[in-house]
Amino acid sequence: MLGIILFTQCQSPEPMPIESGVSKTLADYRKQYITDVVYALHFDIPEKVSDAITGKDTICFSLSDNQQDLQIDFREKQTNIKTISCNKQLVKYEFKNEHIIIPQRYLKKGKNTIAVDFIAGNTSLNRNDEFLYTLFVPDRARTVFPCFDQPDLKAKFRLSLTVPNSWIAVANGAEIAKQTQEKKTNYQFAITKQLPTYLFGFATGKFQTITRRHKGRKHTMYYRETDTGKVDDNTDAIFQQLFQSLDWMEEYTGIKYPFAKYDFVAIPSFQYGGMEHVGATLYRASSLFLDKNPTQNQLLRRANLIAHETSHMWFGNLVTMRWFDQVWLKEVFANYLADKITNPYFPKINHQLKFLMAHYPSSYKVDRTAGANPINQNLSNLKDAGSIYGRIIYNKSPIVMHMLEGITGSINFQKGLQEYLKTYSYGNASWEDLIAILDKSTVADLKQWSSAWVDQPGRPTISTFVTNKNGKIVDLTVTQKDNKGNNGAWNQNIQLTLGYKNGNKNFVITTNQPVVTVEKARGLPLPDFIIANGNANGYGYFQLDDKSKTYLLKNCYKIDNDLLRGVAWINLYENLYEGNVDGCSFIDAVILQLPKEQNTLVFSEMLGYLKSAYWIFLDAEQRKEVATKVENMLYAQLQQETNLGRKSSLLMSLSNIAVTPKMCRKLYHIWKNKTSIGKLELSEQRTTTMACNLALQLPEKVKQIITTQIKRISNGDRKKRLQFIAPALSADQNVRDSFFNSLSDVRNREHEPWVSTALHYLNHPTRQQEALKYLPKSLELLEEVKFTGDIFFPYDWLNACYSGHQSAEAGNITRRFLKQHPEYPENLKLKILQNADLVLRKSAK
Ligand SMILES: [Zn+2]
Repeated sequence: MLGIILFTQCQSPEPMPIESGVSKTLADYRKQYITDVVYALHFDIPEKVSDAITGKDTICFSLSDNQQDLQIDFREKQTNIKTISCNKQLVKYEFKNEHIIIPQRYLKKGKNTIAVDFIAGNTSLNRNDEFLYTLFVPDRARTVFPCFDQPDLKAKFRLSLTVPNSWIAVANGAEIAKQTQEKKTNYQFAITKQLPTYLFGFATGKFQTITRRHKGRKHTMYYRETDTGKVDDNTDAIFQQLFQSLDWMEEYTGIKYPFAKYDFVAIPSFQYGGMEHVGATLYRASSLFLDKNPTQNQLLRRANLIAHETSHMWFGNLVTMRWFDQVWLKEVFANYLADKITNPYFPKINHQLKFLMAHYPSSYKVDRTAGANPINQNLSNLKDAGSIYGRIIYNKSPIVMHMLEGITGSINFQKGLQEYLKTYSYGNASWEDLIAILDKSTVADLKQWSSAWVDQPGRPTISTFVTNKNGKIVDLTVTQKDNKGNNGAWNQNIQLTLGYKNGNKNFVITTNQPVVTVEKARGLPLPDFIIANGNANGYGYFQLDDKSKTYLLKNCYKIDNDLLRGVAWINLYENLYEGNVDGCSFIDAVILQLPKEQNTLVFSEMLGYLKSAYWIFLDAEQRKEVATKVENMLYAQLQQETNLGRKSSLLMSLSNIAVTPKMCRKLYHIWKNKTSIGKLELSEQRTTTMACNLALQLPEKVKQIITTQIKRISNGDRKKRLQFIAPALSADQNVRDSFFNSLSDVRNREHEPWVSTALHYLNHPTRQQEALKYLPKSLELLEEVKFTGDIFFPYDWLNACYSGHQSAEAGNITRRFLKQHPEYPENLKLKILQNADLVLRKSAK
């Protein structure tokens, strides 16, 4: 043993390969030898977007081995680096594959200091005329300044910013000093606790602020909303939800808010709903500042969003995943706990139904496709981390977490989470670390359970079969299979509900076999319908038998249990998607039953399903046939509805669906005169959406509609948005084509939400034939979109590009593209398969 150790010590180590991105090998090496990292950063920010931002970066760290050259991540041009010194000595460095290489001769064991003068890269600085904000998740800190960009090398950050005098600044740490010179102001911020690079952040620009106090702490909101009425209407609710979330998390985790301060910034057209930068969380402004008469779903979404970002302060920020392959670990807790936090504040809502509607349909959207990915994914290089994000992480993992809490029991679950947070505070931990803690308190085999639900992609198909004699059940069996032949592997408890006029019968079964017989059902009369996920806990495609299908298409509304009715509608839609129900029957079912639906969550889901069934599952001819019927039903409901949130949903759905000249004229007059409908006022946001929809249907008026609407918008940020989108709505094909071509230039893709919206309009179902030619180019651009865009953009890009396509030709284009690119990155290929699923099903294999 000793001999071997001596032998290895005498060998100089294999040099670390220099790869672009941040490879797992490099990250593991650095994690092993580097500790106690502190960054002192300074940025000098000019007013003009086109002027360069200069920076100074001093990295202090301890090194326990100096046999290797040191790789520092910097994804910019070499010319952006001015000088580098290491331990006060000027360094002759090498620059290769997005890394600054410090030769090992400059390094010593123990404390080292590296200082870099540089020009900051602009990729992740989101520079606008009057403001900028950083967004470094997952590995974008390295696009701005040299650093060790990996989540498990946590560091303290000491930041100072010089900004134009008319701007203000906010960052992770509290402001400790501010000095104003002639044209510029310098801000110094307090040193932070240990943070991963992706959570380091700041925002600066022309912002307004509102400060509120809670339990002795000051919280400031930074915003650019110019509609003061809107700000006044929403501010109380925003702060209230923040404080409620903080209190709940402190109570649940047994750990006080773990950082020095907690401010937040409302960013116009922010790429995500929110981003949990420690002490300076970013939100999409429109998700915080809601219109008058918001829908119930908008209120729920805002409460959940604030709770989600606040949960992250513990899950993700205090304890961080070791590597981005388990980024789902922070997202699952943020989402799962957000539901628990917000529930008490919506006492009239059925929370199990809310959970069902929030997570299952969205998760099925991916799991029903050939591009489904498991919750746990592989990641060999952080440059691909963006592709890990998606619906499975945000929506399937809370469902799986719900199963886990069911297995361990709520008290053990909470205790386990507390132990996990305490053990790994300000450090990193993995899913396996958590399972090891929870495993102590349960007899169930959590590892085996995890290997099916966390490591496998997709969902099982669960079907029921009944035989009868003289109207009495002889055999009721439940089968479970998936398209990979894992029949019986998806172990879960489901509740079979047999529907009868005078009371339903329920049977809980465990689906741990390919076929399970429900012995207790023998001898019962044949039911009107069977729903195999009756208590809303089952996960899968629940294939309806013919009798149940026929019954539910006409009679869902007769089910008086809201939760079961919600399940029935999800099942009907999934059966539509899988070809077991046809589009016209589904639309007829909604026309018949929507007017009878009292529960707002089910009502909203039905409206969403109506829109997608109408545009995606009907061809143009069928649409023509049902258009008047659908429009009239929605219009009649719109007039009658007294709840303003529901009224608003009806108006927006009608505006989305209307195609007949008669209804378009009606809507045009409502839009033009900003006519209130009952007590529902036409807010700017509503008239903007209406204007866009009308522009698609009334090509002769498009110019006038868009010009009028742009004039009506007083807020500069929102005016720019509509100006950007306008060419995508044009009646002139040449204008649309040249707009599409302009997206090849990364500068025109900077505002990602604007681009996604514009692409939706370009590829609108009514224009899908002309838009087919955009598909090959959209696919060609995808890798670049991933490289230059933020984490959700590749999915959103594809989603928008495929949103209006129904043709086999669109599927064939996709197949051809994949065939021509056999080496295409797997995770992007999955995103294509997810979004092209419907057209791929239609095209020839
Ligand atoms: Zn999150």
